[in-house]
Amino acid sequence: MTLPLKKSSKSPQSHPTESADIISVTDNDFPGFNAFFSFARNDYAVAGPRREGFFRELGINAEKAVFLRQVHGDRILHVGSGGVTEKAEGFDGAITFQSNIPLCLLTADCLPIVVWDPVRKVIGVAHAGWRGTAGRIAVNLIKDMSAGYCCQPAHLKVFFGPGISGGCYDVQEEAAARFPAGTIQREGKLYLDLIKVNTDQLLESGLKTSNIFDSGFCTCCTREKLFSYRNGDQSARNLTVAVIRPGPAKCK
Ligand SMILES: [Zn+2]
Repeated sequence: MTLPLKKSSKSPQSHPTESADIISVTDNDFPGFNAFFSFARNDYAVAGPRREGFFRELGINAEKAVFLRQVHGDRILHVGSGGVTEKAEGFDGAITFQSNIPLCLLTADCLPIVVWDPVRKVIGVAHAGWRGTAGRIAVNLIKDMSAGYCCQPAHLKVFFGPGISGGCYDVQEEAAARFPAGTIQREGKLYLDLIKVNTDQLLESGLKTSNIFDSGFCTCCTREKLFSYRNGDQSARNLTVAVIRPGPAKCK
């Protein structure tokens, strides 16, 4: 389900999971399709055309792309057929059942979570750092998919994009105290495993272990491929995109 793109890749192939594509890339992967996004300058004049070129290469409609203005919260945005006309301010998760509306997450250590319901044809995404995880954003996402779209948790497939691993994510006491089951102490430091905590939350929500997939990439120790806030990337972000492709026309 993941897409560990090579630096030299010019024509990326997404990995379709039934009729949804889940793509996780970084600026480093695409010198020509730089998805650079600056929170500091919000320089869309630079980032916009590059990002649109990247989407075009994958056959994704950039105009409809929903970029959440993430705030480390727990709110979920529901995206209908009109997409999002206003800035998606203050949301860290999104859901849609509409095809061709890409839901996008920008992260640089936090965990990007993508959920796909192959039965109901619904996708959800969430940005989970420690604060969002403490707010149980993954649980909120599953609840909203169930309540609003009749998704059954046992059907849902989850993909964790690249985030900082438990081996690298040393946190302060304030964060560690929220996750006693997800924190270990090593050489006087506290390390939080966001994947474990979010997996536990998803299992509590009724998901199956066999339907939860992890990219296996740690942003912090995959310097050549991924951006990491901990490693000094202040404004550049990795991009995770989930989009429902329209299915093939039915035989008559
Ligand atoms: Zn690491």
